Amino acid sequence: MILDGEKISKKLEIELKNKVRKIKNKLKLAIILVGDDSASKKYVEKKQQKCKEIGIKCEVLSFNKKVITEDLAKEIKKLNEDELTSGVLVQLPLPSHLDSRKILDLVSINKDVDGLNSYNLMEILFDRENILPATPKGIIRLLEEYNIELKGKNVCIIGFSDIVGKPLVMMCLNRGATVSVAHIETRDLKIHTLNSDIVMTATGVAGLIKPDMIKRGTVVIDIGINKKNGKIVGDVDYENVKDKCSFITPVPGGVGPMTVISLIDNLLQLGKK
Ligand code: NAD
Repeated sequence: MILDGEKISKKLEIELKNKVRKIKNKLKLAIILVGDDSASKKYVEKKQQKCKEIGIKCEVLSFNKKVITEDLAKEIKKLNEDELTSGVLVQLPLPSHLDSRKILDLVSINKDVDGLNSYNLMEILFDRENILPATPKGIIRLLEEYNIELKGKNVCIIGFSDIVGKPLVMMCLNRGATVSVAHIETRDLKIHTLNSDIVMTATGVAGLIKPDMIKRGTVVIDIGINKKNGKIVGDVDYENVKDKCSFITPVPGGVGPMTVISLIDNLLQLGKK
């Protein structure tokens, strides 16, 4: 069965629209975009479009790829203090001369719509989840919508970035799962995936997960977004893996739309405060 992120996110969008209307559409998202990376620009456009559809103001502040930390810091400080701005998002990745962790920590925890400030990430560690990073939040919501329990399950998470894998590990632990974390140095990935009820993959390697790595009935969450032969594909060899799964997310149309809608949900959470 397909975990239809497109359908669930549409349902959540209607709920969010009503909530936004109730607070008289007073939300505003500010997005900081550095450089001219085409993928980043596309993601920002998607976020802008979704805000428009829901009735939220969205302002994009674009900076030259050579921008220095001090100039970004000045702008973020202004946005932190601006009463009309409900959330501030720094589009990642940033150019390599900038320290992403330092920049993300400049965003006030009251405006941290992406949940990537160190404080908000640390709260997950102590099971005091507040504003959650959008992709892990969207994945957990998708599982909940399909009544897929994490408690007591063996979960394998492949890839441990600060924005996806690491928070996801903690969020699964917080929900009672037994988690194994695999990565580029993992010797035999198959041992871990075959021992799992749920496999979540965020590596950026197209076709990494093959049918012989998945036992029958596994839930597969494909977070990867890769370009292959001009098409967007995930980390999973979808056509050959799908029949072995009890549930699987397609790419596109799985985790992606859940990420965008979770971001808007975070904005509403901050806006209410
Ligand atoms: P990243 O790119 O920072 O790191 C990749 C991770 O994968 C590392 O931990 C690495 O050890 C692991 N890895 C790489 N090759 C591997 C291999 N052959 N075997 C096992 N592990 C391997 O991670 P990221 O920023 O989380 O991005 C990962 C993927 O998820 C990318 O394709 C990205 O576009 C996608 N992504 C999707 C969404 C979404 O909303 N769907 C959001 C964020 C990222």
